[in-house]
Amino acid sequence: MPRPIHASISVSALSHNLAVVRRRLDQAAQAAAGTAPSIWAVIKANGYGHGIETAVAGFSAAQGLAMLDLDEAVRCREAGWGGPILLLEGFFQPVDLELVDRYHLTVTVHTREQLDMLSQARLSRRVDIMLKLNSGMNRLGFSPGAYGSAHGRAMQLREQGVVGSIGKMMHFSCADGPQGVSGPLQVFRSITDELANGPISVCNSAATLRYPEIAVGQDDEAHWVRPGVCLYGASPFDDTSAAALDLQPAMSLRSEIIGIQDLSAGDEVGYGATFRAEHPMRIGVVACGYADGYPRHAGTGTPIVVGGVRTRLLGRVSMDMLVADLSNVPAVGVGTAVSLWGQDGPAVDEVAQAAGTIGYELLCAVAPRVPVKRIP
Ligand SMILES: *Cc1c(COP(=O)(O)O)cnc(C)c1O
Repeated sequence: MPRPIHASISVSALSHNLAVVRRRLDQAAQAAAGTAPSIWAVIKANGYGHGIETAVAGFSAAQGLAMLDLDEAVRCREAGWGGPILLLEGFFQPVDLELVDRYHLTVTVHTREQLDMLSQARLSRRVDIMLKLNSGMNRLGFSPGAYGSAHGRAMQLREQGVVGSIGKMMHFSCADGPQGVSGPLQVFRSITDELANGPISVCNSAATLRYPEIAVGQDDEAHWVRPGVCLYGASPFDDTSAAALDLQPAMSLRSEIIGIQDLSAGDEVGYGATFRAEHPMRIGVVACGYADGYPRHAGTGTPIVVGGVRTRLLGRVSMDMLVADLSNVPAVGVGTAVSLWGQDGPAVDEVAQAAGTIGYELLCAVAPRVPVKRIP
């Protein structure tokens, strides 16, 4: 028998979360008497750790899929996805354009070098592009001063039959916090408003959920949002839980108790002996460690559910094991079910917070050695 740890992935939770986002956008469109945007479901990083094929199944009602890796895009096509696919970082080498062409992918264009590669490519059909503006995050994109001429070059490439539609895109750095979206949005609008019509895409999960109105179209330009983490049932916000947003966790990481120890007052637990019992207590050893992707920085007090009872981690997480406090868990033995996070456990965001990180990182970091069970 393998170790009892596994991750179960719920396709219906993925679909539910997409429907939550869809509803929010439709309501915003109705309130503003505009057109609701289309959704590019972001499935980069192996669908935030949930698996590409599972994500394709869960997001079948999305209008498009977005990711970084060409091989993930190819897997979407092989899984039967016929809709738009956006490569969020575009392409890196001229040879990548062969696959872009063959699999009919839309590419983000954010450098002059990419425009050069396009101008030299021999393609069987026009490639749709999203021209990215650096509106202040200073990650990818043309600076406000360079965007107009990049757009001009893209228009030339369109006249030459190389490029199809030319979209306008940016990314928010602070949509989840008090700084919000207005500054970068103003930069984006002042630069792109006077340029030729094309698809517009600005919102990630946080902006889609908190400012859906900015993605509502008031003209004949197509608008697209790019939600990621919320579709997997985690929250993009520090101050609002996924449950409060009506999102369902799609991944549940579960294991079992594989050993029990009875401690006397003064006994210590784990590497570094960082936990010391103040009174006699019972602890359970769980088959889950940092080599499974559980964060080593989760310390004493991190929530965990054992036998349906919420309790806490004790001491340091080891490579293959961690320890749970069984003081308030009445009937427990070797084989008792443990939920690390997900449907019957703590929210992944709670575990992440206890470890000083974000749910995104934990979902993406579940190790290949953890078996995955896909459930409807
Ligand atoms: C990852 C990513 C997203 C999705 O971000 P979430 O915070 O997970 O919603 C959207 N756009 C771009 C460009 C990204 O890289």
